[in-house]
Amino acid sequence: MQAYTPYATASGWNQIAKASGRCHEKKLSGNLRIKFAIVGAGFAGAAVARRLCELYPDDEIVLLDALSAAEGSAGRSSGFMLDRADAKIDVRGAGPESDWHTDILQAGREWLEHIVSSHHIRCDWRDIGHYKTSTTALGAKELDALLAKLDAKGMPYRQLSSDDIRTELGAAQCTNAVWFPNCVLIQPAELIHGLLATLPAQVKLYTGSPVDRLDRGAPHTLSVGQNQIQADTVIFCNNVTLPFFGYGKYRQITVYTYAGMTPELPAEELDKLGQASDWGATPAERLGATTRKLNSRRFLFRAGFSYKKELVPGDINAALRDQYAKKYPQMKSHQFEYTWGGALSMTRNGVPIFGKMSENIYALSACNASGILKMTALGKLLAEEIAGVGSRLLADTERYSKPLWIPPEPIRSLAVNYNFSKLKRKMREEA
Ligand SMILES: Cc1cc2nc3c(=O)[nH]c(=O)nc-3n(C[C@H](O)[C@H](O)[C@H](O)COP(=O)(O)OP(=O)(O)OC[C@H]3O[C@@H](n4cnc5c(N)ncnc54)[C@H](O)[C@@H]3O)c2cc1C
Repeated sequence: MQAYTPYATASGWNQIAKASGRCHEKKLSGNLRIKFAIVGAGFAGAAVARRLCELYPDDEIVLLDALSAAEGSAGRSSGFMLDRADAKIDVRGAGPESDWHTDILQAGREWLEHIVSSHHIRCDWRDIGHYKTSTTALGAKELDALLAKLDAKGMPYRQLSSDDIRTELGAAQCTNAVWFPNCVLIQPAELIHGLLATLPAQVKLYTGSPVDRLDRGAPHTLSVGQNQIQADTVIFCNNVTLPFFGYGKYRQITVYTYAGMTPELPAEELDKLGQASDWGATPAERLGATTRKLNSRRFLFRAGFSYKKELVPGDINAALRDQYAKKYPQMKSHQFEYTWGGALSMTRNGVPIFGKMSENIYALSACNASGILKMTALGKLLAEEIAGVGSRLLADTERYSKPLWIPPEPIRSLAVNYNFSKLKRKMREEA
């Protein structure tokens, strides 16, 4: 395993992000002795850093990322912030555990909304809900089951007729669609830049600074090439590379997913994607595509998964173009201006790796495919755990964050590939 993920592609979101909201970036050079060192400047790391500043206003905090800002998964995501776990197809746990998932998402949304509005972070924050669409009989079944659940809870939604689907989404292949109010859409690279740029001055951010070694002690020592950081407390928020430092190896796996963004489209092409200037849709099928029509006159298409390894750029591009052309045959061109992959850490039972790993070492990982709100809320809670600030949400988080054991290779690969094939076969059978 590598210490960090050197992506072969750049995030399209980061390429088009406004220059004005970018955080200041510099590489670590020299040695440091500080109280807190956080490894990973994604949503989890940014949240831990911000909350630690509130709880320890007099201490210096170092926040390190291997890549440039917004080049990790945070800046590669699709920007959906669903704030109800029970409005997802893939709901983990039942009863109180599912309520805890929703409590986490809502806490993340509340805090993020507060940060974004109080610091005037420009990230195209759009509180416009989202669509859930299906293109197969399997997806339609999943959607029906979801609607029955929403009915039982009295949660609002709007079912679209086939005329509505055509006028609102222009999705030729889509057979069923429902709109839900519980989702904010954002430009993810602008959001993470904004979160990093508005951290208090006591946080020293170093990007392009991969941590390649941990020597446990009192203090602990982190190495970034020749540079060393001695820290009383180390917090790992480094997503898929947590096992490199000896934690979570049998609790999380790495999966890559892929996205493409078109160039700016002419008005007649945008019209084929529905009337509104922007919308977002997630699939009812577990391996389906996520799509967004963007205010920036582009179209985003996220689809496909691979286990452990990022596909090569040419293959990413070809696979995405192929699927885009099948789903949107009405478009004149299926060229993307940017395509990229991003890594996700997943646990067997969909709960995060959260809390104390050993003396003065903490970790937060495993977003399980959606982590903007979740890792923000959990990052805040992790800082509170470190400071000994208790709450019901923290107690619930400690209770439920118990990721199940995952067997080592080669059984692991066999099991993952078997599950992927099973899902694909089920989709084909029910297409
Ligand atoms: C294509 C795609 C679409 C997605 N869409 C959505 C979506 O619509 N909504 C949603 O909620 N989530 C989505 N996600 C998931 C979301 O991106 C993640 O849940 C989120 O980024 C996880 O936050 P994190 O802080 O845990 O990890 P990351 O954002 O990955 O941050 C971890 C950071 O640690 C750094 N790092 C790793 N190793 C080292 C090291 N050795 N030294 C220093 N730094 C290191 C990495 O460079 C990285 O920047 C998507 C992900 C992908 C890939």
